[in-house]
Amino acid sequence: MAKKVLIIDDSVTQLSSLKIFFKREGFEVDTAKNGVEGFVKIYKNTPDVIISDVLMPHLGGFQLCRLLKSNRETKDIPFIMLTVLDKNLDKFWASQSGADVFLRKDFDMSTIVQSAKDIIKKMPVSNMTKQELSTYEIEEDAIITQINKILDDELMKATITNKFRDITDYTKDDKHIASEIFEILSTITDYDIACIHFHSPDASVQKRLIFHEQNVLIDDETMLAIWRQLLPDSINDFKPEKITSKNELHVLNSIDDFLSKKEFDFYYEDILIGKLCLFSRENLRWNKMRFMQTVKSELDLFLRLKYLYTKTCYLSITDELTQLYTRRHLKSVLAQEFERAKRYGTIVTIAMIDIDNFKDVNDKYGHLAGDYVLKEVSKIFINTLRKTDFVYRYGGEEICILMPETLVEKAYVPLERLRKTIENREFIFEGKKIKVTVSIGASTYGKDMRDANELIERADAVLYKAKKSGKNKVVMDIDE
Ligand code: GH3
Ligand code: MG
Ligand code: MG
Repeated sequence: MAKKVLIIDDSVTQLSSLKIFFKREGFEVDTAKNGVEGFVKIYKNTPDVIISDVLMPHLGGFQLCRLLKSNRETKDIPFIMLTVLDKNLDKFWASQSGADVFLRKDFDMSTIVQSAKDIIKKMPVSNMTKQELSTYEIEEDAIITQINKILDDELMKATITNKFRDITDYTKDDKHIASEIFEILSTITDYDIACIHFHSPDASVQKRLIFHEQNVLIDDETMLAIWRQLLPDSINDFKPEKITSKNELHVLNSIDDFLSKKEFDFYYEDILIGKLCLFSRENLRWNKMRFMQTVKSELDLFLRLKYLYTKTCYLSITDELTQLYTRRHLKSVLAQEFERAKRYGTIVTIAMIDIDNFKDVNDKYGHLAGDYVLKEVSKIFINTLRKTDFVYRYGGEEICILMPETLVEKAYVPLERLRKTIENREFIFEGKKIKVTVSIGASTYGKDMRDANELIERADAVLYKAKKSGKNKVVMDIDE
């Protein structure tokens, strides 16, 4: 069967000479004088290849090509752009518009015909595409509607993209970032509940799930049920957070009230870096929804950048061996806490911890065993303390705890519990049982202190007292 070529050009002479040439080569030829006319013909009598001029009235070649290539039904039809233009900017636009071949008009006819034959072979238009296109009743006066629809889609996609690219401040609170994402999402879909999870390289903030209640409210049980369904491995100590748009809505108390759900998982190098889930009481066909794909790819990019950014920040403040925060990080945090205490009268307590006779552990069991014990002791610190207490590796086997809003008298109980836990623990390294103890000294900010260093010095001084008086004990900096 003869291949069909559609030639679009506003120059009558150019049109007729191309027409003659293609006919001679056995093509069935259709012509159009501008982009709009061409667009109608593509639907009525789908060609195997389109050859178009760039400069034409109404709808030029670049725009026509962009429209066709961004339209699901027409994107697979090969497009050859013919032009007299030869500037870099023209080449750029030609590539941006998605043309498959870009030819200078002054090429001889046989080159143009050969290109058409080659591209038809490379990108044959399927019968399905042709059939699908012919089912659309595109009349010339309806063309503007069709073009507008495609332009609207393009504009909407660009808007969604821009909105996502606007959220670039990864240092903001996750809840704030989530609310910006929900705002974009709620403009394009009618979900009742959305929830988002950002995976963080920092284990202490990993378990966050932020909900958006758009059309209904959910009770705590339902939130828990959703959480369990989404992240079955991390069901323990989480605090789901909520963002609620309206308040007069009724409360749903079962996950079964949702008839449809759409779940997106986002991965980076096999790590789950985020999740988005949408719920509706209606049976929505999420996959058919316009712009879902745009949202998915933009969110994917956003989450990757957020993850990498957070990871970089995390690595720069985390000690590799113990996974505790670094001493450098302590310096900056402590200086801030000190200023806050001075200005607003807030409380901050520091505890300094040193493992007793640690040299002996190294000497007796080897340095690797020492490393292992240090790692395990650090884990005990992280798991035993409150989420609001921060643990730093101060030196070799010295650890520092920053306890905001805790008076030294109140700090004694958790510190003593820590000391006991370590005393009772048996560390097993390569079959060998190792026991260690720790000495702890703690001090609270006082008005007479010069700076943050003095607070550390005070804690160090009481730690020294603990060591002097027999080790394995907690000593507080309280005036006797
Ligand atoms: P004390 O009870 O007085 O604290 O006795 P100590 O043996 O712990 O003495 P000190 O605190 O002065 O010495 C700390 C030792 O801890 C020295 C060093 O060999 C060891 N150490 C420090 N950092 C590391 C580490 O990262 N890994 C290992 N394996 N050992 C470390
Ligand atoms: Mg030491
Ligand atoms: Mg020591």
